[in-house]
Amino acid sequence: MTGPLTLFDQSYDQLQDLLASWGEPAFRGRQLWTRLYQGLVTSFDEMSELPKSLRQRLARETVLDRLKLITDQRSSDGQTRKILFALPDGAQIESVWMGYERRRTVCISTQAGCAMGCLFCATGQGGLQRNLTSGEIVEQVLFFARPPRSEAQGRKPDPQLPRSGSQRMASTLTNIVLMGMGEPFANYEQVMTAVRRLNDPAGFNFGARRMTVSTVGLVPGIKKLAQENIQINLAVSLHAATDELRDRLVPTNKRYPLGALLPAVHEYIERTRRRVSFEWALIEGVNDTPEQASALARLARGMLCHVNLIPLNPTSGYGGAASTRQRIAAFRSVLESAGIPHTLRLRRGIDIQAGCGQLRQRSMNSRLSPGR
Ligand code: SAH
Ligand code: SF4
Repeated sequence: MTGPLTLFDQSYDQLQDLLASWGEPAFRGRQLWTRLYQGLVTSFDEMSELPKSLRQRLARETVLDRLKLITDQRSSDGQTRKILFALPDGAQIESVWMGYERRRTVCISTQAGCAMGCLFCATGQGGLQRNLTSGEIVEQVLFFARPPRSEAQGRKPDPQLPRSGSQRMASTLTNIVLMGMGEPFANYEQVMTAVRRLNDPAGFNFGARRMTVSTVGLVPGIKKLAQENIQINLAVSLHAATDELRDRLVPTNKRYPLGALLPAVHEYIERTRRRVSFEWALIEGVNDTPEQASALARLARGMLCHVNLIPLNPTSGYGGAASTRQRIAAFRSVLESAGIPHTLRLRRGIDIQAGCGQLRQRSMNSRLSPGR
């Protein structure tokens, strides 16, 4: 793909080289990097320390933000905000902000769509459009890290907030989860480039320990991540503890069955000494049975892991329903008596369809059948 140079796709070295090739002194590249990732600028005009001629050249030959906001929805309790963005080629992605307890978490997409085809997932039901670039992944985070517009436009800043860029960021977002649309390990290089860029101490400086990457269970990706020298958290979307059931819910299980997936997770824990989380969407009468609970307890026993239970978020392409309270309680009691650490996650933002891929699904549907 050719076109203007997209700044958020460039590494630090690439930006230095670009400015050097324009005959700029070395410190200009550093200034630009700092403005992008600490100043969180959205326009070249805000880069006042750069000479006007350089700002004009940047504006002519490069591109800053590419995310165009299509819909911005807030849940009635104000704790969830969900955004549908369009990219210049028309691909659509979703990002979600969740603010509760002491956390302010952003959930970002790594692909437009997904090719993995999990039955219950709205993103999977729509198929894959394309991989995102590292810059498109990073830009989603920057969007939420930027101060509210009123402050950016010169209203008096909140005296409670730290003033410098990186400090402000730390106070704005506490966690980043790569759990939006797409399978991160099907786009491994761009995802890890984005993670390292967000982590850069000279830039956005976001701690890797506060980032989580979630995979459907692509074994090569898990093995690769175990070799990386980075402290990011790993979540594995398990959803079933027998191959028979997992094959049906998560088609990639046929390629990487539990007999391959679980040894890879063990190896990851052994190498990194990091706790892995297992994600489990509870589907009434499907994977919330006592048999599945016992099978899960057997495979998780003695493992450095944590099970996250999430009642299914219903989607239009799948007939399953969320488990009832009683069934959830029964499932949990099996894990409890086996001593498996677990948490029941609440379904957030149901009223704004904050389930993965659901906004895009609705936007596509309304385009197909106007007037709905
Ligand atoms: N592709 C990655 C990350 C994106 S999906 C993965 O599968 O892990 C993020 C999480 O949302 C996964 O745990 C996925 O299983 C879960 N999920 C998808 N659709 C869901 C639904 N309808 N209800 C509850 N969880 C869902
Ligand atoms: Fe893709 Fe994850 Fe959805 Fe499965 S659950 S289709 S891997 S985004």
